[in-house]
Amino acid sequence: MNETIQALTIAGFDSGGGAGMQADLKTFQERLVFGTSVLTALPIQNTQGVKKVYDIPLDAIQDQLVVVREDFKISAVKTGMLFTAEITHLVSEFLKAADFGPLVVDPVMIAKSGHALLKDSAVRSLIEELLPQAFVITPNIPEAEVMSNMTITTKDEMLTAAKKIQVLGAKNVVVKGGHHLEGTQSTDLLLLEDGQLDWLAADRIPTKNTHGTGCTFSACITAELAKGVDVRSAVHTSKEFIQAAIADGIQVGFGNGPTNHWA
Ligand code: PLP
Repeated sequence: MNETIQALTIAGFDSGGGAGMQADLKTFQERLVFGTSVLTALPIQNTQGVKKVYDIPLDAIQDQLVVVREDFKISAVKTGMLFTAEITHLVSEFLKAADFGPLVVDPVMIAKSGHALLKDSAVRSLIEELLPQAFVITPNIPEAEVMSNMTITTKDEMLTAAKKIQVLGAKNVVVKGGHHLEGTQSTDLLLLEDGQLDWLAADRIPTKNTHGTGCTFSACITAELAKGVDVRSAVHTSKEFIQAAIADGIQVGFGNGPTNHWA
């Protein structure tokens, strides 16, 4: 019998089912990877946005990480919402010693609804402690601007920022052009460890149902890496996956619906 491929998401919660840990687990399942999960924060949210965030005790996060490590053979791991400097530090320290395979860091900072998912005081810990461990990091434009300390309005600037993020220690960098740059195409940049780069262009889809797009994209990369797929193929496959998921976004709730994983 083939061994079941297992992955882990370390992320925040979404009662609305479209983003965070829920998006990650659904994506893992869709990609035929068994998903485990460690909850870092409890946002109270639906398709209309995040109302508030309850803390998860640090000990509870540590204990979840330990039981996953004790019992599962994790082949790839992703981080999503880490919320505070203390959580970012705890997770970074744990991952240094854990044998969880390649790390995908989705440097989640602000939800589309405008709510902070990472406190300003945690940015430094994210950059100095977690980023250097990233096999793949997947910032959108605002997140890439924070990490590279520059403004990005052009593709040239996307590349400059990606190079800066690589200098900070992330091996492979995906800067997501998404809805933040103008044009009829949504273009992402993949800067590989060896300096090669790919531009991943796709038609921009006019829809409001994009809740959880970034989570789904990085979860798909994680699932593919868990299967042993090389990073370039994992990112290209994930771009196709998210493009189809956005094209078929789901109209649930009164706000911005989620992407559709079964597309
Ligand atoms: N909620 C959680 C827990 C998340 O981790 C994220 C993004 O990573 C979001 C919400 C963001 O949702 P949106 O796609 O609407 O910005």
